[in-house]
Amino acid sequence: MKLRLAKDLNYSPEQMRLAGEFVVFCAESLPISGEYTVHIVSDRESHGITTTAVYEVGNNTCRVYAKDRHFADVLRSIAHEMTHMMQDQTGLITGPVQDAGGFHEDQANSKAGEIIKLFAKSKPGRKKIYENKNLKKKDKKLVVYHGSPKSFNKLRLKPHVLLSKPGVFAADNIEQALCSLQYWNDDTFDQGVVDDDPLYLHEKKPNSFESVYKEKEGWIYVLDASSFVHEDNLMRTELVSYSEPTIVKKIYIKDVLKALQKSNLRMFSYKNTKSFNEYIKE
Ligand SMILES: [Zn+2]
Repeated sequence: MKLRLAKDLNYSPEQMRLAGEFVVFCAESLPISGEYTVHIVSDRESHGITTTAVYEVGNNTCRVYAKDRHFADVLRSIAHEMTHMMQDQTGLITGPVQDAGGFHEDQANSKAGEIIKLFAKSKPGRKKIYENKNLKKKDKKLVVYHGSPKSFNKLRLKPHVLLSKPGVFAADNIEQALCSLQYWNDDTFDQGVVDDDPLYLHEKKPNSFESVYKEKEGWIYVLDASSFVHEDNLMRTELVSYSEPTIVKKIYIKDVLKALQKSNLRMFSYKNTKSFNEYIKE
């Protein structure tokens, strides 16, 4: 096992130790055989990472981008990519891996969630992976995210059954805004959060990811967080503003499905309802 950690991530000695133990834990639980290398990096380009992490097929090597990411998310990415390593070693990888709702991704997401929880419980002190020392500006959110299939120059206040007066919704995480780039209802998906994990989206009908999001466009509105408040009847990741929010940035998304696949969203297909049910019952 080789673990290469970029120095400028400024991980504490404890985090370095936990990262090392976590990699070994993944290798034992998946399992992985023989030599392998995990790079935790602070620079995407020189490592050929376009999203957050990559597994090099045939090379027993994964590279995970860690800058400004929560430590537990970095570990979750390691477990995800090491699951692809296991799939590769057992001959399960014969074609492209990047399809949401596909076997490889579903297994990688579900194994990663499973392993990180087992690791946190496996020894005293390991719950510290959920602490967040090296993230700056963690406590005060500066921006929140709103997603819409439509392009606007202003976000107008609208009445909503959950609100006592007209408002604009936003989320504290970009995944949730990405999910809102197309319209859908409770018959299409389950959406929620387990523990400190990223948001999940589970298909309640076969192929909803494709039918709702594939090759559909939308706009992400990055909004000044200062006018937003939390209400008790909303999901804990949701916020509302009762005055017109300031748009800091507007981002055009050409293919929502691709954007979701690149995000930290945990996607569960309809045919993986069983692993979804196991995931949410913990
Ligand atoms: Zn993957």
